[in-house]
Amino acid sequence: MAVPLRTCLICHQRAEKKSLYRLVLIGAELFYDNKHRAPGRGYYICQKVECLGRFLEGKRRLGRLPIGSEALDTESRALLQGVLKKTIDARG
Ligand SMILES: [Zn+2]
Repeated sequence: MAVPLRTCLICHQRAEKKSLYRLVLIGAELFYDNKHRAPGRGYYICQKVECLGRFLEGKRRLGRLPIGSEALDTESRALLQGVLKKTIDARG
C-alpha cells in the first residue's frame, strides 16, 4: 500500500505525511493542525529540530507565498514552541 508522502517546507525532504507537522492557512492566519484533519491547503514541516526552529524564527516562507511564522495564531505558535522544546530536550 502506498504511504502518503509530503515535502518539508524547509529542507524539502519527503517524509510520511503523518510524521510531519501540518500547518493550515485559513484566511491570513496559520494554524497548527496536530490532528491532520483541518480542511484547507496544508503545509508540512518535518521533525528535524533545525526545520521547525528555522520556521519559527521566521526566516522561511510558505513556498511562494509571502507568509511565514509571523502568521501563526497565538495558540499554534505556543504549541509548536512546546514541540520544539520537547524535541531539543529529548536530544539532550
Ligand atoms: Zn525538514
